[in-house]
Amino acid sequence: MSIAKTVETFKLYIDGEWNDPATGEYFDVVSPATGEVLFKAANGNRQDVKKAIEASCSAFQHWSKKSGKERSTILFRLYQLMLENTEELAKTISSEMGKPIKQARGEVANSAEYVLWNAEEGKRVYGQTIQGFEANKRLQMTKQPVGPVAAITPWNFPLAMITRKLSPALAAGCTVILKPAEQTPGTAVKFFELAEEAGIPKGVINLVTGQPAEIGDALLSDKRIRKITFTGSTKVGKLLLEKAAHQVKRVSMELGGHAPFIVFEDADLDKAVSSVMKSKYFNCGQTCISPNRLYVQESIKETFLDKLKAAVEGLTVGNGLNEEVGLGPVVSKAGLDKVKSHVKDAQEKGARLVCGGEEYQVRDCEEGFFYTPTILSDVNEKMRISYEETFGPVAPIFTFKNEDEVVNKANDTDYGLAAYMFTKDLARSVRVSESLEYGMVGINDTVLSQVQGPFGGIKESGMGREGGPNGLDDFLETKFISTVI
Ligand code: ADP
Repeated sequence: MSIAKTVETFKLYIDGEWNDPATGEYFDVVSPATGEVLFKAANGNRQDVKKAIEASCSAFQHWSKKSGKERSTILFRLYQLMLENTEELAKTISSEMGKPIKQARGEVANSAEYVLWNAEEGKRVYGQTIQGFEANKRLQMTKQPVGPVAAITPWNFPLAMITRKLSPALAAGCTVILKPAEQTPGTAVKFFELAEEAGIPKGVINLVTGQPAEIGDALLSDKRIRKITFTGSTKVGKLLLEKAAHQVKRVSMELGGHAPFIVFEDADLDKAVSSVMKSKYFNCGQTCISPNRLYVQESIKETFLDKLKAAVEGLTVGNGLNEEVGLGPVVSKAGLDKVKSHVKDAQEKGARLVCGGEEYQVRDCEEGFFYTPTILSDVNEKMRISYEETFGPVAPIFTFKNEDEVVNKANDTDYGLAAYMFTKDLARSVRVSESLEYGMVGINDTVLSQVQGPFGGIKESGMGREGGPNGLDDFLETKFISTVI
Protein backbone atom coordinates (compact mmCIF):
# COMPACT_ATOMS: atom_id res chain seq x y z
CA MET A 1 0.00 0.00 0.00
CA SER A 2 1.45 3.36 -0.95
CA ILE A 3 1.01 6.36 1.30
CA ALA A 4 0.21 9.53 -0.61
CA LYS A 5 2.67 12.33 0.14
CA THR A 6 1.00 15.40 1.61
CA VAL A 7 1.72 18.45 -0.45
CA GLU A 8 1.83 21.81 1.33
CA THR A 9 -0.87 24.25 0.23
CA PHE A 10 -0.17 27.98 0.03
CA LYS A 11 -2.96 30.49 0.49
CA LEU A 12 -3.26 34.16 -0.33
CA TYR A 13 -2.13 36.78 2.18
CA ILE A 14 -4.55 39.69 2.23
CA ASP A 15 -5.08 42.22 5.02
CA GLY A 16 -2.94 40.19 7.42
CA GLU A 17 -4.87 36.92 6.90
CA TRP A 18 -4.02 33.71 5.04
CA ASN A 19 -7.13 32.91 3.00
CA ASP A 20 -8.41 30.60 0.28
CA PRO A 21 -8.73 32.29 -3.12
CA ALA A 22 -12.17 33.32 -4.38
CA THR A 23 -11.94 30.59 -7.03
CA GLY A 24 -11.34 27.94 -4.35
CA GLU A 25 -8.72 26.52 -6.74
CA TYR A 26 -5.06 25.71 -6.32
CA PHE A 27 -2.42 25.05 -8.97
CA ASP A 28 0.58 22.71 -8.91
CA VAL A 29 4.12 24.02 -8.48
CA VAL A 30 6.47 21.53 -10.10
CA SER A 31 10.20 20.89 -9.61
CA PRO A 32 12.14 21.54 -12.84
CA ALA A 33 14.70 18.95 -11.69
CA THR A 34 12.45 16.01 -10.85
CA GLY A 35 9.00 16.83 -12.18
CA GLU A 36 7.43 16.18 -8.75
CA VAL A 37 4.65 18.41 -7.42
CA LEU A 38 6.24 20.46 -4.64
CA PHE A 39 3.35 22.61 -3.45
CA LYS A 40 -0.10 23.77 -4.39
CA ALA A 41 -0.57 27.52 -4.65
CA ALA A 42 -3.74 29.60 -4.58
CA ASN A 43 -5.21 30.52 -7.92
CA GLY A 44 -6.20 34.09 -7.11
CA ASN A 45 -8.36 36.25 -9.36
CA ARG A 46 -9.82 39.75 -9.79
CA GLN A 47 -11.97 39.48 -6.66
CA ASP A 48 -8.93 38.71 -4.52
CA VAL A 49 -7.06 41.64 -6.07
CA LYS A 50 -9.97 43.93 -5.19
CA LYS A 51 -9.77 42.90 -1.53
CA ALA A 52 -5.99 43.34 -1.57
CA ILE A 53 -6.32 46.85 -3.02
CA GLU A 54 -8.83 47.81 -0.33
CA ALA A 55 -6.50 46.50 2.36
CA SER A 56 -3.46 48.26 0.93
CA CYS A 57 -5.32 51.60 0.63
CA SER A 58 -6.53 51.42 4.19
CA ALA A 59 -3.09 50.40 5.51
CA PHE A 60 -1.45 53.21 3.53
CA GLN A 61 -3.24 55.72 5.79
CA HIS A 62 -1.19 54.68 8.81
CA TRP A 63 1.98 53.12 7.26
CA SER A 64 2.77 56.28 5.28
CA LYS A 65 2.43 58.36 8.46
CA LYS A 66 4.87 56.32 10.52
CA SER A 67 8.33 57.80 10.86
CA GLY A 68 11.13 56.45 8.73
CA LYS A 69 12.75 55.15 11.91
CA GLU A 70 9.65 53.15 12.88
CA ARG A 71 9.44 51.51 9.46
CA SER A 72 13.17 50.92 9.48
CA THR A 73 13.01 49.04 12.79
CA ILE A 74 10.49 46.56 11.39
CA LEU A 75 12.50 46.09 8.19
CA PHE A 76 15.65 45.50 10.21
CA ARG A 77 13.85 42.70 12.07
CA LEU A 78 12.83 41.23 8.73
CA TYR A 79 16.46 41.34 7.58
CA GLN A 80 17.50 39.39 10.69
CA LEU A 81 14.74 36.82 10.22
CA MET A 82 15.73 36.26 6.61
CA LEU A 83 19.29 35.49 7.62
CA GLU A 84 18.12 33.20 10.43
CA ASN A 85 15.96 31.31 7.92
CA THR A 86 18.49 31.16 5.12
CA GLU A 87 18.38 27.40 4.76
CA GLU A 88 14.61 27.11 4.41
CA LEU A 89 14.45 30.02 1.97
CA ALA A 90 17.36 28.65 -0.09
CA LYS A 91 15.83 25.18 -0.28
CA THR A 92 12.51 26.59 -1.44
CA ILE A 93 14.22 28.69 -4.13
CA SER A 94 16.31 25.78 -5.37
CA SER A 95 13.39 23.33 -5.39
CA GLU A 96 11.04 25.65 -7.25
CA MET A 97 13.31 27.01 -9.95
CA GLY A 98 16.30 24.68 -9.92
CA LYS A 99 19.33 26.81 -9.10
CA PRO A 100 22.23 25.21 -7.21
CA ILE A 101 21.71 25.44 -3.46
CA LYS A 102 24.92 27.42 -2.94
CA GLN A 103 23.68 30.05 -5.38
CA ALA A 104 20.31 30.02 -3.62
CA ARG A 105 22.02 30.77 -0.29
CA GLY A 106 23.83 33.61 -2.04
CA GLU A 107 20.48 34.90 -3.28
CA VAL A 108 19.09 34.91 0.26
CA ALA A 109 22.10 36.89 1.50
CA ASN A 110 21.78 39.36 -1.39
CA SER A 111 18.01 39.69 -0.86
CA ALA A 112 18.48 40.37 2.83
CA GLU A 113 21.11 43.02 2.01
CA TYR A 114 18.45 44.92 0.05
CA VAL A 115 16.14 44.85 3.06
CA LEU A 116 18.92 46.13 5.33
CA TRP A 117 20.07 48.81 2.90
CA ASN A 118 16.55 50.13 2.35
CA ALA A 119 15.80 50.00 6.07
CA GLU A 120 18.77 52.32 6.52
CA GLU A 121 17.89 54.54 3.56
CA GLY A 122 14.34 54.93 4.90
CA LYS A 123 15.75 56.96 7.78
CA ARG A 124 17.50 59.30 5.36
CA VAL A 125 14.84 60.72 3.10
CA TYR A 126 15.79 64.35 2.61
CA GLY A 127 13.94 67.39 1.29
CA GLN A 128 15.36 70.81 0.45
CA THR A 129 14.66 74.43 1.16
CA ILE A 130 15.05 76.84 -1.73
CA GLN A 131 15.52 80.60 -1.64
CA GLY A 132 12.58 82.52 -3.10
CA PHE A 133 12.83 85.71 -5.18
CA GLU A 134 10.79 87.61 -2.55
CA ALA A 135 11.80 88.14 1.07
CA ASN A 136 8.42 86.99 2.41
CA LYS A 137 8.48 83.64 0.61
CA ARG A 138 9.58 80.28 1.95
CA LEU A 139 10.04 77.50 -0.57
CA GLN A 140 10.32 73.83 0.31
CA MET A 141 10.71 70.58 -1.52
CA THR A 142 9.50 67.50 0.36
CA LYS A 143 9.27 63.80 -0.48
CA GLN A 144 6.18 61.67 0.05
CA PRO A 145 5.41 58.00 -0.67
CA VAL A 146 3.71 57.49 -4.05
CA GLY A 147 0.89 55.37 -2.58
CA PRO A 148 -0.20 51.73 -2.90
CA VAL A 149 2.12 49.88 -5.29
CA ALA A 150 1.68 46.77 -7.46
CA ALA A 151 4.79 44.58 -7.79
CA ILE A 152 5.06 41.80 -10.37
CA THR A 153 8.14 39.59 -10.14
CA PRO A 154 9.78 36.78 -12.15
CA TRP A 155 10.96 33.29 -11.20
CA ASN A 156 14.72 33.53 -11.90
CA PHE A 157 15.52 35.31 -8.63
CA PRO A 158 12.30 34.59 -6.78
CA LEU A 159 13.40 36.18 -3.50
CA ALA A 160 15.79 38.93 -4.61
CA MET A 161 13.26 40.39 -7.05
CA ILE A 162 10.72 40.60 -4.22
CA THR A 163 13.00 42.32 -1.73
CA ARG A 164 14.42 44.68 -4.36
CA LYS A 165 10.89 46.00 -4.86
CA LEU A 166 9.16 45.58 -1.53
CA SER A 167 11.91 46.88 0.73
CA PRO A 168 12.37 50.31 -0.92
CA ALA A 169 8.60 50.66 -1.29
CA LEU A 170 8.00 49.86 2.39
CA ALA A 171 10.90 52.03 3.58
CA ALA A 172 9.49 54.95 1.58
CA GLY A 173 6.06 54.48 3.23
CA CYS A 174 4.18 52.73 0.41
CA THR A 175 1.99 49.65 0.78
CA VAL A 176 2.35 46.80 -1.72
CA ILE A 177 0.44 44.05 -3.50
CA LEU A 178 2.78 41.39 -4.85
CA LYS A 179 2.09 39.00 -7.69
CA PRO A 180 5.04 36.61 -7.91
CA ALA A 181 5.73 34.31 -10.85
CA GLU A 182 3.54 31.21 -11.08
CA GLN A 183 6.66 29.00 -11.07
CA THR A 184 7.85 30.31 -7.67
CA PRO A 185 4.96 31.22 -5.34
CA GLY A 186 6.47 29.16 -2.48
CA THR A 187 9.42 31.50 -2.04
CA ALA A 188 7.02 34.45 -1.88
CA VAL A 189 4.92 32.69 0.76
CA LYS A 190 7.98 31.93 2.93
CA PHE A 191 9.05 35.57 2.65
CA PHE A 192 5.58 36.80 3.64
CA GLU A 193 5.55 34.51 6.67
CA LEU A 194 8.77 36.14 7.83
CA ALA A 195 7.44 39.62 7.07
CA GLU A 196 4.40 38.88 9.22
CA GLU A 197 6.65 37.63 12.03
CA ALA A 198 8.79 40.77 11.72
CA GLY A 199 5.71 42.84 12.53
CA ILE A 200 4.77 44.40 9.21
CA PRO A 201 1.20 45.53 10.01
CA LYS A 202 -1.81 43.99 8.29
CA GLY A 203 -2.66 45.30 4.85
CA VAL A 204 0.80 46.82 4.32
CA ILE A 205 1.90 43.89 2.16
CA ASN A 206 -0.48 41.56 0.34
CA LEU A 207 0.22 38.49 -1.74
CA VAL A 208 -1.94 37.39 -4.66
CA THR A 209 -0.71 34.35 -6.59
CA GLY A 210 -2.51 33.01 -9.65
CA GLN A 211 -3.34 33.86 -13.23
CA PRO A 212 -0.96 36.59 -14.47
CA ALA A 213 -3.16 38.30 -17.05
CA GLU A 214 -6.25 38.60 -14.84
CA ILE A 215 -4.35 39.69 -11.72
CA GLY A 216 -2.18 42.09 -13.73
CA ASP A 217 -5.21 43.67 -15.38
CA ALA A 218 -7.07 44.03 -12.08
CA LEU A 219 -4.06 45.79 -10.54
CA LEU A 220 -3.39 48.08 -13.48
CA SER A 221 -6.97 49.11 -14.17
CA ASP A 222 -7.57 50.29 -10.59
CA LYS A 223 -6.91 53.99 -10.02
CA ARG A 224 -5.99 53.43 -6.39
CA ILE A 225 -2.79 51.65 -7.41
CA ARG A 226 -0.40 54.52 -8.02
CA LYS A 227 2.62 52.68 -9.25
CA ILE A 228 3.68 49.43 -10.89
CA THR A 229 7.12 47.98 -10.42
CA PHE A 230 7.90 45.05 -12.69
CA THR A 231 10.75 42.71 -13.54
CA GLY A 232 10.25 40.35 -16.46
CA SER A 233 10.27 40.13 -20.22
CA THR A 234 10.23 43.18 -22.47
CA LYS A 235 7.10 41.76 -24.13
CA VAL A 236 5.07 41.75 -20.90
CA GLY A 237 6.70 45.02 -19.78
CA LYS A 238 5.39 46.79 -22.88
CA LEU A 239 1.90 45.43 -22.25
CA LEU A 240 1.97 46.69 -18.66
CA LEU A 241 3.33 50.08 -19.77
CA GLU A 242 0.40 50.46 -22.16
CA LYS A 243 -2.07 49.67 -19.40
CA ALA A 244 -0.30 51.95 -16.92
CA ALA A 245 -0.48 54.78 -19.46
CA HIS A 246 -4.29 54.93 -19.21
CA GLN A 247 -4.02 56.27 -15.68
CA VAL A 248 -0.51 57.73 -15.98
CA LYS A 249 0.67 55.44 -13.21
CA ARG A 250 4.28 55.67 -12.12
CA VAL A 251 6.35 52.79 -13.51
CA SER A 252 9.63 51.01 -12.85
CA MET A 253 10.50 48.41 -15.46
CA GLU A 254 13.42 46.03 -15.28
CA LEU A 255 13.13 44.13 -18.57
CA GLY A 256 15.16 41.86 -20.80
CA GLY A 257 18.77 42.24 -21.82
CA HIS A 258 21.28 41.02 -24.36
CA ALA A 259 24.60 41.66 -22.71
CA PRO A 260 27.82 41.92 -24.71
CA PHE A 261 30.93 40.55 -22.98
CA ILE A 262 34.04 41.96 -24.66
CA VAL A 263 37.45 40.36 -24.18
CA PHE A 264 40.31 42.51 -25.51
CA GLU A 265 43.65 40.93 -26.39
CA ASP A 266 45.37 42.60 -23.42
CA ALA A 267 42.90 41.12 -20.90
CA ASP A 268 43.79 38.74 -18.10
CA LEU A 269 42.31 35.70 -19.84
CA ASP A 270 42.06 33.53 -16.74
CA LYS A 271 40.07 36.25 -15.03
CA ALA A 272 37.88 36.69 -18.11
CA VAL A 273 37.18 32.95 -18.24
CA SER A 274 36.37 32.65 -14.54
CA SER A 275 34.04 35.63 -14.94
CA VAL A 276 32.22 33.93 -17.83
CA MET A 277 31.78 30.93 -15.55
CA LYS A 278 30.33 33.15 -12.81
CA SER A 279 27.98 35.02 -15.12
CA LYS A 280 27.07 32.99 -18.23
CA TYR A 281 26.61 29.68 -16.38
CA PHE A 282 25.38 31.24 -13.14
CA ASN A 283 21.69 30.42 -12.56
CA CYS A 284 21.90 28.26 -15.70
CA GLY A 285 22.22 31.38 -17.82
CA GLN A 286 18.78 32.54 -16.70
CA THR A 287 19.50 36.11 -15.69
CA CYS A 288 18.68 39.31 -17.51
CA ILE A 289 22.32 40.42 -17.20
CA SER A 290 23.74 37.10 -18.42
CA PRO A 291 26.35 37.56 -21.19
CA ASN A 292 24.56 36.80 -24.45
CA ARG A 293 27.29 37.74 -26.92
CA LEU A 294 30.92 37.02 -26.11
CA TYR A 295 33.12 39.19 -28.35
CA VAL A 296 36.69 37.90 -28.29
CA GLN A 297 39.49 39.74 -30.12
CA GLU A 298 40.70 37.62 -33.05
CA SER A 299 44.30 37.22 -31.88
CA ILE A 300 43.31 35.49 -28.61
CA LYS A 301 40.32 33.49 -29.82
CA GLU A 302 41.89 30.01 -29.73
CA THR A 303 43.59 30.47 -26.34
CA PHE A 304 40.40 31.87 -24.85
CA LEU A 305 38.31 29.02 -26.25
CA ASP A 306 40.69 26.36 -24.89
CA LYS A 307 40.60 27.86 -21.42
CA LEU A 308 36.83 28.33 -21.45
CA LYS A 309 36.19 24.80 -22.69
CA ALA A 310 38.34 23.34 -19.89
CA ALA A 311 36.41 25.37 -17.30
CA VAL A 312 32.99 24.50 -18.75
CA GLU A 313 33.78 20.80 -18.82
CA GLY A 314 34.46 20.96 -15.08
CA LEU A 315 30.85 21.92 -14.30
CA THR A 316 28.68 19.32 -12.58
CA VAL A 317 25.13 19.23 -13.94
CA GLY A 318 22.33 17.95 -11.72
CA ASN A 319 19.59 18.59 -9.18
CA GLY A 320 20.36 21.97 -7.62
CA LEU A 321 19.62 20.60 -4.16
CA ASN A 322 22.85 18.56 -4.30
CA GLU A 323 25.72 20.52 -2.77
CA GLU A 324 28.25 19.60 -5.47
CA VAL A 325 26.09 20.69 -8.42
CA GLY A 326 27.25 23.79 -10.35
CA LEU A 327 24.58 23.84 -13.04
CA GLY A 328 20.92 23.03 -12.36
CA PRO A 329 18.06 22.50 -14.81
CA VAL A 330 16.47 25.11 -17.04
CA VAL A 331 13.22 26.26 -15.42
CA SER A 332 10.69 24.63 -17.78
CA LYS A 333 10.14 22.60 -20.93
CA ALA A 334 9.43 25.82 -22.84
CA GLY A 335 12.74 27.22 -21.58
CA LEU A 336 14.60 24.08 -22.62
CA ASP A 337 12.95 24.08 -26.05
CA LYS A 338 14.09 27.67 -26.61
CA VAL A 339 17.70 26.81 -25.70
CA LYS A 340 17.62 23.82 -28.07
CA SER A 341 16.14 25.87 -30.89
CA HIS A 342 18.80 28.60 -30.51
CA VAL A 343 21.62 26.07 -30.71
CA LYS A 344 20.04 24.27 -33.66
CA ASP A 345 19.45 27.52 -35.55
CA ALA A 346 23.05 28.64 -34.93
CA GLN A 347 24.48 25.30 -36.10
CA GLU A 348 22.33 25.35 -39.22
CA LYS A 349 23.70 28.80 -40.04
CA GLY A 350 27.34 27.76 -39.62
CA ALA A 351 28.20 27.95 -35.90
CA ARG A 352 30.68 25.37 -34.56
CA LEU A 353 29.83 23.39 -31.45
CA VAL A 354 32.87 23.56 -29.16
CA CYS A 355 31.24 21.54 -26.37
CA GLY A 356 27.83 20.62 -24.93
CA GLY A 357 24.81 21.08 -27.15
CA GLU A 358 22.55 18.35 -25.88
CA GLU A 359 19.87 17.48 -23.37
CA TYR A 360 21.29 15.74 -20.35
CA GLN A 361 19.97 12.83 -18.32
CA VAL A 362 20.55 13.06 -14.58
CA ARG A 363 20.14 9.95 -12.45
CA ASP A 364 16.86 10.00 -10.43
CA CYS A 365 15.83 13.15 -12.31
CA GLU A 366 14.37 11.67 -15.50
CA GLU A 367 11.72 14.40 -15.72
CA GLY A 368 14.23 17.25 -15.36
CA PHE A 369 14.98 19.95 -17.95
CA PHE A 370 18.76 19.57 -18.04
CA TYR A 371 21.06 20.85 -20.78
CA THR A 372 24.81 20.44 -21.03
CA PRO A 373 26.86 23.63 -20.65
CA THR A 374 27.56 24.70 -24.20
CA ILE A 375 30.00 26.83 -26.18
CA LEU A 376 29.35 27.85 -29.79
CA SER A 377 32.03 29.53 -31.87
CA ASP A 378 31.87 31.21 -35.31
CA VAL A 379 28.59 32.82 -34.34
CA ASN A 380 27.28 35.66 -36.51
CA GLU A 381 24.54 38.30 -36.53
CA LYS A 382 22.13 36.24 -38.62
CA MET A 383 21.65 33.66 -35.89
CA ARG A 384 18.74 34.06 -33.46
CA ILE A 385 21.09 33.68 -30.52
CA SER A 386 22.77 36.95 -31.52
CA TYR A 387 19.65 39.05 -30.93
CA GLU A 388 17.19 37.00 -28.80
CA GLU A 389 17.70 36.19 -25.10
CA THR A 390 18.60 32.50 -24.77
CA PHE A 391 18.10 32.17 -21.00
CA GLY A 392 20.19 29.01 -20.93
CA PRO A 393 23.76 27.74 -20.45
CA VAL A 394 25.03 28.55 -23.94
CA ALA A 395 27.99 30.87 -24.62
CA PRO A 396 28.07 32.16 -28.23
CA ILE A 397 31.51 33.40 -29.31
CA PHE A 398 31.93 36.18 -31.88
CA THR A 399 35.27 37.65 -32.90
CA PHE A 400 36.29 41.25 -33.65
CA LYS A 401 39.33 43.10 -34.99
CA ASN A 402 39.30 46.49 -33.24
CA GLU A 403 37.67 48.67 -30.60
CA ASP A 404 35.38 50.71 -32.87
CA GLU A 405 34.04 47.60 -34.54
CA VAL A 406 33.21 45.87 -31.25
CA VAL A 407 31.58 48.93 -29.69
CA ASN A 408 29.32 49.29 -32.73
CA LYS A 409 28.41 45.62 -32.62
CA ALA A 410 27.85 45.66 -28.87
CA ASN A 411 25.44 48.60 -29.18
CA ASP A 412 23.55 47.12 -32.13
CA THR A 413 20.58 45.87 -30.10
CA ASP A 414 17.27 47.18 -28.79
CA TYR A 415 18.35 46.21 -25.28
CA GLY A 416 20.52 48.27 -22.93
CA LEU A 417 20.83 46.57 -19.57
CA ALA A 418 24.35 45.30 -18.84
CA ALA A 419 27.65 45.16 -20.73
CA TYR A 420 31.04 43.79 -19.72
CA MET A 421 34.59 44.35 -20.87
CA PHE A 422 37.88 42.74 -19.94
CA THR A 423 41.04 44.78 -20.51
CA LYS A 424 44.08 46.03 -18.62
CA ASP A 425 44.21 49.26 -20.62
CA LEU A 426 42.86 52.04 -18.40
CA ALA A 427 42.26 54.57 -21.18
CA ARG A 428 40.43 51.96 -23.25
CA SER A 429 38.24 50.99 -20.31
CA VAL A 430 37.18 54.63 -19.91
CA ARG A 431 36.57 55.16 -23.66
CA VAL A 432 34.62 51.96 -24.13
CA SER A 433 32.56 52.17 -20.94
CA GLU A 434 31.48 55.69 -21.93
CA SER A 435 30.53 54.53 -25.45
CA LEU A 436 28.50 51.50 -24.43
CA GLU A 437 24.77 52.27 -24.47
CA TYR A 438 23.89 50.34 -21.35
CA GLY A 439 22.56 51.11 -17.87
CA MET A 440 25.40 49.13 -16.26
CA VAL A 441 28.95 48.33 -17.33
CA GLY A 442 31.32 45.86 -15.66
CA ILE A 443 35.04 46.47 -16.22
CA ASN A 444 36.90 43.25 -15.35
CA ASP A 445 33.82 42.52 -13.26
CA THR A 446 30.48 40.78 -13.73
CA VAL A 447 28.90 41.27 -10.31
CA LEU A 448 26.46 44.09 -11.00
CA SER A 449 23.73 43.16 -8.56
CA GLN A 450 25.15 44.97 -5.54
CA VAL A 451 22.84 46.88 -3.28
CA GLN A 452 25.13 49.93 -3.26
CA GLY A 453 24.78 50.37 -7.03
CA PRO A 454 21.76 51.41 -9.14
CA PHE A 455 20.54 48.34 -11.05
CA GLY A 456 18.56 48.98 -14.22
CA GLY A 457 18.63 49.50 -17.95
CA ILE A 458 18.01 51.89 -20.82
CA LYS A 459 16.35 51.46 -24.25
CA GLU A 460 14.00 48.44 -24.25
CA SER A 461 15.59 47.10 -21.07
CA GLY A 462 13.44 49.44 -19.04
CA MET A 463 13.43 52.45 -16.78
CA GLY A 464 14.02 53.16 -13.10
CA ARG A 465 16.78 51.87 -10.84
CA GLU A 466 16.80 49.46 -7.91
CA GLY A 467 19.29 49.92 -5.06
CA GLY A 468 22.02 52.53 -4.96
CA PRO A 469 22.05 55.91 -3.25
CA ASN A 470 18.76 56.95 -4.94
CA GLY A 471 16.96 53.63 -4.65
CA LEU A 472 14.00 55.03 -2.70
CA ASP A 473 13.32 57.77 -5.26
CA ASP A 474 11.29 55.43 -7.46
CA PHE A 475 8.78 55.17 -4.61
CA LEU A 476 8.72 58.84 -3.62
CA GLU A 477 6.96 61.85 -5.11
CA THR A 478 8.48 65.31 -4.90
CA LYS A 479 6.14 67.94 -3.49
CA PHE A 480 6.88 71.64 -3.81
CA ILE A 481 5.47 73.88 -1.05
CA SER A 482 5.52 77.63 -1.50
CA THR A 483 4.59 79.75 1.55
CA VAL A 484 4.00 83.50 1.88
CA ILE A 485 4.65 84.63 5.45
P1 ADP B 1 9.37 35.08 -18.18
O1 ADP B 1 9.25 34.86 -19.64
O2 ADP B 1 10.76 35.19 -17.71
O3 ADP B 1 8.54 34.14 -17.34
P2 ADP B 1 7.38 37.10 -17.97
O4 ADP B 1 7.53 38.52 -18.39
O5 ADP B 1 6.46 36.26 -18.77
O6 ADP B 1 8.85 36.53 -17.95
O7 ADP B 1 6.95 37.00 -16.46
C1 ADP B 1 7.37 37.86 -15.45
C2 ADP B 1 6.21 38.11 -14.50
O8 ADP B 1 5.16 38.73 -15.25
C3 ADP B 1 5.61 36.86 -13.90
O9 ADP B 1 5.18 37.14 -12.57
C4 ADP B 1 4.42 36.58 -14.78
O10 ADP B 1 3.40 35.85 -14.14
C5 ADP B 1 3.95 38.00 -15.05
N1 ADP B 1 3.10 38.15 -16.24
C6 ADP B 1 3.13 37.45 -17.38
N2 ADP B 1 2.17 37.87 -18.24
C7 ADP B 1 1.50 38.88 -17.60
C8 ADP B 1 0.40 39.72 -17.94
N3 ADP B 1 -0.23 39.62 -19.11
N4 ADP B 1 0.00 40.63 -17.03
C9 ADP B 1 0.62 40.75 -15.84
N5 ADP B 1 1.66 39.98 -15.46
C10 ADP B 1 2.10 39.06 -16.33
